[in-house]
Amino acid sequence: MDFFSKKARGIAPYTAGEQLRDKTYIKLNTNENPYPPSPRVKEVLERFPAEDLRLYPRPDADLLRQAIAEREGMSPENVFCGNGSDEVLALSFPAFFDPDGAGACFADITYSFYEVFAAFFGIPTRIVPLLADFTFDLDALRRTDCQGYYIANPNAPTGIGIGRETLEQFAVSVPDRIVILDEAYMDFFGESCVPLIGRCPNVLVVKTFSKSYALAGIRCGYAIGDRALIAALLRMKDCFNSYPVDGVAQAVCTAAVQDTAYYSAVTQNVVSERKRVQNALRDMGFTVPESASNFLFAGRAKAGGKEIYTRLKEAGVLVRFWDKPVLRDFVRITVGTAEQNDALLRQLKEILS
Ligand SMILES: *Cc1c(COP(=O)(O)O)cnc(C)c1O
Repeated sequence: MDFFSKKARGIAPYTAGEQLRDKTYIKLNTNENPYPPSPRVKEVLERFPAEDLRLYPRPDADLLRQAIAEREGMSPENVFCGNGSDEVLALSFPAFFDPDGAGACFADITYSFYEVFAAFFGIPTRIVPLLADFTFDLDALRRTDCQGYYIANPNAPTGIGIGRETLEQFAVSVPDRIVILDEAYMDFFGESCVPLIGRCPNVLVVKTFSKSYALAGIRCGYAIGDRALIAALLRMKDCFNSYPVDGVAQAVCTAAVQDTAYYSAVTQNVVSERKRVQNALRDMGFTVPESASNFLFAGRAKAGGKEIYTRLKEAGVLVRFWDKPVLRDFVRITVGTAEQNDALLRQLKEILS
């Protein structure tokens, strides 16, 4: 006899990418940034007054919201901060979807946490297959009866991006449904839908400090949207955890978001390496959809994803593999530094020969 609830027994939790510590890997499996965070982050950490930790942090992360709002050209009332964008996405389910409603609609191949959150909160799902070229079938999404959508843009694990105009047309065509755009990788693409907010009251954009800001270890993410949408998220937060973003994270992320010069240089490095690795993979015979993110989705019919993943791991290079239909011909490879990418390409050449 265990004490598990039916939910604890029955649910299939999300599986995160491996964080192995058994040896030093070239880690290209969880889309972390290969570059360090802004030097200002180090300064903030060195100067952070330990005695401040005695008190609870600002419950709504006011100064951080202010800094994010300035960066995004919005007002702080349009910003909500959470403990990683995963938490923001989690809270969005009970905030905008009903267990007895028409459901949350998303693609069959996308960020797999959406499905887990829906199950956790008892929200029905409507799954729409991607088209054969791995792009979203926006017409099919539009035709699907639902309460709203989750669209990762750029999508994971395909890396494919959708332009802002296309998404504006989509959002305008479904005015009674919420459109939640997960922009975890948007800085590597530059087509954010934040400018739609104000014109499209049904659009909520979710972003993270984990990828382009190189702060996956700090756990902070945010949503931007109409005040009414932010109000719903705040209500959910205050039913669960009043202080999701700790004081250190608030200070660190505030400094990071203000260092636009540093981060645009880092992002440019990643984008130019992405192009180089993408071309090299295609030259080796891999199918690689055009990536708008900091990772490449590389497939090969003969040597399937599992073989590539296993052989690379033996050689000390970690990439991501999913043993699922469609995905099993592919691996997802995070773009690393030039040296890491060279090592990856060298190992791949050896494996394929
Ligand atoms: C990494 C990722 C997130 C989660 O980011 P955290 O802020 O680290 O929780 C959300 N959505 C997608 C698509 C991601 O790849």
